[in-house]
Amino acid sequence: MQPLTIAIAGCGPAGLAAALLLERQGHSITIYDRFVEPGPVGSGLMMQPSGMAVLDALGLAGEIFRHGARVDGLLGLEEHGKTVLDAPYSKLGVKDAFGIGIHRASLFGVLYEEAQARPIAIKTGRTLTGSELTGTARHLTFDDGSRSPDFDLIVDATGWQTVLDDEPKGLLEFGALWASLPTNSDDPFSGNLLEQRYRRAAQMVGVLPIGARKGGAGLDIAFFWSLKRSEYAAWCDTPFESWKDDVRKLWPETAVLLDRITHRDQLTFARYAHRTHKQPCGDRLITIGDAWHSASPQLGQGANMALLDAWSLSRGLAEGRTLDEKLRLAVSWRRDHVWLYQWITALFTPLYQSDTKWHPALRDRLLAPISQIWPASKIQAQLMSGLFGFPLAPLGLHLPDYSALAEASASEIAAIASSESHS
Ligand SMILES: Cc1cc2nc3c(=O)[nH]c(=O)nc-3n(C[C@H](O)[C@H](O)[C@H](O)COP(=O)(O)OP(=O)(O)OC[C@H]3O[C@@H](n4cnc5c(N)ncnc54)[C@H](O)[C@@H]3O)c2cc1C
Repeated sequence: MQPLTIAIAGCGPAGLAAALLLERQGHSITIYDRFVEPGPVGSGLMMQPSGMAVLDALGLAGEIFRHGARVDGLLGLEEHGKTVLDAPYSKLGVKDAFGIGIHRASLFGVLYEEAQARPIAIKTGRTLTGSELTGTARHLTFDDGSRSPDFDLIVDATGWQTVLDDEPKGLLEFGALWASLPTNSDDPFSGNLLEQRYRRAAQMVGVLPIGARKGGAGLDIAFFWSLKRSEYAAWCDTPFESWKDDVRKLWPETAVLLDRITHRDQLTFARYAHRTHKQPCGDRLITIGDAWHSASPQLGQGANMALLDAWSLSRGLAEGRTLDEKLRLAVSWRRDHVWLYQWITALFTPLYQSDTKWHPALRDRLLAPISQIWPASKIQAQLMSGLFGFPLAPLGLHLPDYSALAEASASEIAAIASSESHS
């Protein structure tokens, strides 16, 4: 394959994974991002078996697991204590599979460090405004009026707020407040579950173990509280203690975490958007990750889907004959899975974030009991793992060896403990 000059717009999980994979194929890669100093905002996220298959192929699965926290399932209770969501990874039928809760900064840090170690140019402080096709090349334009050199291909990985298309951004009514907080061993949370509590679907509070921040020491937990976009301004004016009372009423055990939130600034309000770009590839241009498809994080898939897109792009470039065909192949291997998850996420999100009464009633009275019966229990685990619709086979990807991952991590922890006891 003739090496290409490729500009990757966006240095998130999609852009970084694409850069690593494409540089390995011998292409010349330049990443552009608007941030001046690397340091992603936000709290934690879940790495699913689907995304871990890509990280494993990149040789980074162990590193990710080392920084993250093992998550064996999701557990959701309604306000009166009845379990309405119980989704263990064990129902997947894949030996020892689990999810990994991780600091967003750690996922970014692992990929970014790897990119820095490779001959990949990373141009920061560059806010792009668009891209233009000139003859047989394409370039990016920036907010200071300048433009990039010409490239054979531009990859748009700038997330859901992409400026490279003018389709509606599809902001959802509900977002959430997020914080990363230190944990103590006697905290009243399971340590290996994503736990949520709901008052109907109008209120939700949850916690996700996310391991230690890359470069940090102690273990952290992500705390989140569902909030409507239209109510964020009012929340800022609400006395802090009265908001904490609301949270404690729904889930009294969160009191220990609320005590660690001393300033409103510790909470970041994340907005969610649901959109699918109709034409993810064009003339010397391809769109991956959230720039192609974004959704609420209720199913915890976005970063994982972004990694699968990056992998598909690298496969497409390796296999197609013309550039056009390469890009169309890359999109074709991902289109069905993307379509499936966009629909499923749109259907599921109101069960956990909405003002209606019938969505939570459907969740509690019908879906909760059915989901415990085979094969619904397995389908639920597949949905959560990102494996529903079998996305890995067409991409030639395989799940990581979870037993080996867990063993390697256990022996590493034992080695650290033993070196500490000797010192
Ligand atoms: C609160 C929250 C929780 C989430 N939880 C999960 C989860 O549990 N599991 C999961 O898989 N996903 C989760 N997601 C979704 C996940 O974060 C995204 O799907 C993922 O980050 C998408 O990666 P990306 O690389 O496509 O885009 P992004 O991560 O958005 O990266 C885009 C990059 O492009 C840059 N950029 C944007 N615009 C410009 C511009 N004009 N010029 C230059 N640079 C630009 C940005 O600075 C950024 O670095 C969550 C999202 C949120 C908000």
